[in-house]
Amino acid sequence: MTLTGKTLDEDVKLVKKYEKYIDLVELRVDYLNEDEQLYARRFPSMIYQPCILTIRRDVDGGLFSGGEFARTNLFGRALAFANPDKAKNFAFVDFEDDFHIPSIQDAAMAFGVRIIRSYHNMTDPVLNIRERCDIMRKTGYEIPKIAFMPHSLSDVLNLFKEGERMTQYDHILCAMGPLGFPSRILASYTNSFLTYVSPSEGIEHTKSIGHIDPIMINDLYHFKSINQDTQLYGISGWPLVKTSSPEIHNKGYENKALNALYLPFRSPLISDTLSFCEKIGVRGLSVTIPHKESVLYYLHEQSPEVAQIGACNTIVRKNNKWLGYNTDATGFRRALEEFLGGVKLKHKKVSVIGAGGAAKAIIYTLKLMGAKVCIFNRTVETAAKLADKYGFSYCELSPHCVSKLNEYSTLIVQTTSVGMNSEGPSSSENDPIYFYDFKGSEMVFDIVYEPSVTPIMKRAAIAGCKVCNGYKMLEYQGFEQFKLFTGLDYE
Ligand code: NAP
Repeated sequence: MTLTGKTLDEDVKLVKKYEKYIDLVELRVDYLNEDEQLYARRFPSMIYQPCILTIRRDVDGGLFSGGEFARTNLFGRALAFANPDKAKNFAFVDFEDDFHIPSIQDAAMAFGVRIIRSYHNMTDPVLNIRERCDIMRKTGYEIPKIAFMPHSLSDVLNLFKEGERMTQYDHILCAMGPLGFPSRILASYTNSFLTYVSPSEGIEHTKSIGHIDPIMINDLYHFKSINQDTQLYGISGWPLVKTSSPEIHNKGYENKALNALYLPFRSPLISDTLSFCEKIGVRGLSVTIPHKESVLYYLHEQSPEVAQIGACNTIVRKNNKWLGYNTDATGFRRALEEFLGGVKLKHKKVSVIGAGGAAKAIIYTLKLMGAKVCIFNRTVETAAKLADKYGFSYCELSPHCVSKLNEYSTLIVQTTSVGMNSEGPSSSENDPIYFYDFKGSEMVFDIVYEPSVTPIMKRAAIAGCKVCNGYKMLEYQGFEQFKLFTGLDYE
C-alpha cells in the first residue's frame, strides 16, 4: 500500500487501519512535509509491516523536485544506522534505473535492504519489457520494476505476454491508467512480485495511474485467491468510470464457491478488448457504452433478441467464438413489472427518452408488452429510425416536445446517460426533460442507477410521481448474464 500522507504519524494511522488487507507498505517520502522527510528513517520501527523506501522524482510521477544531491542525502539518512533487528530497517528501497550511487547501494545491500530498480514512463508504453528487466537487474539482489502508460490494450497484452514468461527472478510490472487496470488485478498472470494499492484517504494522488484501495482489491476482486485456474469474466466499456457489475457478479461467484473473477476491461475499441480477452482466456463479457452496437460486427452468433434489437450487452466465448445475447431486455421487463405492480401497459401511452443502445432493448420490450410508445431523442433521426421499425411515434427531445410528452405520460422511461453521476438539483445539464412539468400521475422509470435518486427522479417524486431507478434492472440483467456465463442460477 502506497502511503502519501504529509506526516509519518498520518501514514502510521493508515497502516494500522488497513493492516489486515496488506503485506507491504511503500513510504513515499516525496509526499511528506519537508521537515518530516528528514525523519523517514524512523518509519519502519513505527509500524509492523515491511516497508519500501521511495523518494519519487517529479519526472517519474512523484513530487520530489529538490534535485539529485538532496535526494541522495535523504536516501543516505533513511538507510543509515542499520538496526540488528531487520524489522526496524526498510525492507526495500526503490532506486530508479538511472540512479546509481555505489556507496548508497552498497549500504542498502550490506544492511539486507533489497533494491527495487524501477523505470517509469508516464506517457508511453514500454515494449521490450523482458529485455529491459534483464538489463536493469545488475545483481541478483535487485527487483526490476517497469511501470508505463499504455496507449491501447495491445500494449497491456504485450506486458502480459512478456511477464508470463518471466519466471526466473522477482520483478514488478504494471500498466498504468484505466487501460492498464487488468495488470494490477491480474498481477499473478505476469508473475509480478507485488501490486500497488492506495488507501481511500490518499487515492486521489494515485487514481489516475490506476490504484484502487486495499479493501476493494481484497473484498471485491479477491486478489489473493486469483490463480491460473480462475475463470475470468468482465465488463467492456469506455470510459467506464463507475460500474456496479463487479459487485453483482463477484458476489455471485462467492456465493456459489466458484473460482471466478469479474473485472473491468476498459478500452475505446471493442476490437482491442476482444483480442485482449481472447488471449488471456476471458470467458464472457458484459458490454456497455459505447460498444453495444459496434460489438455486433465481431459476433459469430447472435441470439434472436440481439438480431431483433440490434444491440448486444452480453457476449460469451465458446469454442473460440463470441456468442451475443441481450439481457437488458429481460432485466428491464422484470424490473419494470415489479415497479408497475400489476398495471398493464397494453394500449397505454409511454414515453421513452433516448434512443441509444439501452433504449433499443427497452423499446423492443415495450412493444412486446403492447404499449404505444413515443421516442424522444436529441438526434431525432435515430428516434425516427427506431420508431419506424416498431410502428411507434417519435419527437425531437427539446422544449417543443412538451405536448407529446403530456400525451404519452402513463409511464416515462428515461434511458439517456444525462443525470448519471449527477447529484445536483434538476437543470438542463442533468435532467433531459427539465422543461416538462410533472402532473404527479406519471410513473417514472430512470434506467440510470448512479446516483440512486437522479435529478429527474427527485423532481418527479416531489410532484407526486411514483419513481424507480435502474438498479433492479441492472441486477436482473446481471443475474441472467451470470446464468449465461456460468450455467448456474444467481438467486
Ligand atoms: P448510448 O447507446 O451511448 O446512448 C446514449 C443516449 O443518451 C442516446 O439516446 C443519446 O442521444 C442520449 N444522450 C447522451 N447525452 C445526451 C445529452 N447531453 N442530451 C440529450 N441526450 C443525450 O448509451 P446506452 O447504452 O443506451 O446507456 C444509456 C444510459 O443507460 C447510461 O447511463 C447507462 O449507464 C444506463 N444503462 C443502465 C442499464 C441498467 O441495467 N440499469 C442498462 C444499460 C444502460 P443521441 O442519440 O442524440 O446521442
